[in-house]
Amino acid sequence: MYTLPLPDALPIGRRRTADVVRVTDESGEEREFPAVVYSPHVWTLLNRVDCDPSLLSTPLWTAVERTHYMGASKLFVLVDRPFWRDADPATGHDMMSMTLTDRMPRGVYLFDDGPDRPGVMCLSYTWNDDSLKVATLSAEERLETLLTKLAAIYPDVDIRSHIIAGPLTVTWETEPRFMGAFKNNLPGHYRYQRRLFTQFMQDGVDPAQQGFFLCGDDVSWTAGFAEGAVTTALNAVWGVLRHLGGTTHPDNPGPGDLFDTFAPLELPYD
Ligand SMILES: Cc1cc2nc3c(=O)[nH]c(=O)nc-3n(C[C@H](O)[C@H](O)[C@H](O)COP(=O)(O)OP(=O)(O)OC[C@H]3O[C@@H](n4cnc5c(N)ncnc54)[C@H](O)[C@@H]3O)c2cc1C
Repeated sequence: MYTLPLPDALPIGRRRTADVVRVTDESGEEREFPAVVYSPHVWTLLNRVDCDPSLLSTPLWTAVERTHYMGASKLFVLVDRPFWRDADPATGHDMMSMTLTDRMPRGVYLFDDGPDRPGVMCLSYTWNDDSLKVATLSAEERLETLLTKLAAIYPDVDIRSHIIAGPLTVTWETEPRFMGAFKNNLPGHYRYQRRLFTQFMQDGVDPAQQGFFLCGDDVSWTAGFAEGAVTTALNAVWGVLRHLGGTTHPDNPGPGDLFDTFAPLELPYD
């Protein structure tokens, strides 16, 4: 039996006894399941979730440890109306539009909900080093910095005068249940990605490692895109079905049934 802690639970975890997985939530309640599907970032298995080490093989734990994440930050404000659609008197074009810049804001995205209704501005969407440039700043400090930088790009646009709420910010690498925005493999990581992606195939695996299924963005073959995470959910569902003794309809085979046809290649790594 294995245990797995749910949000912010310490020292909860998953423990395995016999052929069930025990999950303990933050209230301390324990429940046992014949199979468990785990979808958060896998680094959470290293700290916030007290995971029984026997649930994964040593090579899989190596893949978990070597997972690499992109960092990302965003800052949003609510504005009175989509003023950016006002015509620039000099050009006749919108006075401001979606903006990509090599300066600190990096990406500016504008969301309107009709001409006379409040709109949302994402004044900055950044990755990695650019995210770290704002990570230690408070929300207000980030806003002041970004408004200054954007004023250099749009000297005739008074963004500040339109702000009616915010700023709201997020930095994924400092979010306790994420520690990074989304997985981003480094050169040499193919082997680790393949291990995670194929973990749902558990025939012949040590019985202690059966019934616990990883899925989600970290397991995805195309991390950082929701579609890839959905694919891993389908794989995990097939794994659970198999684990519980079920089968797919012969006319509608599942991912495990076609594994030998579609599985990512195992490479000669050394
Ligand atoms: C900044 C950013 C930009 C992105 N842009 C795009 C894009 O443009 N297009 C696109 O397709 N995809 C994008 N993605 C990727 C997309 O968001 C993911 O692929 C998708 O959210 C993955 O879904 P998931 O269910 O695997 O994981 P998540 O959506 O991350 O869900 C995992 C959940 O587990 C929860 N959790 C953590 N620990 C515990 C615990 N102990 N107990 C219970 N729950 C826990 C977390 O709070 C979280 O809600 C982006 C992601 C980020 C971060």
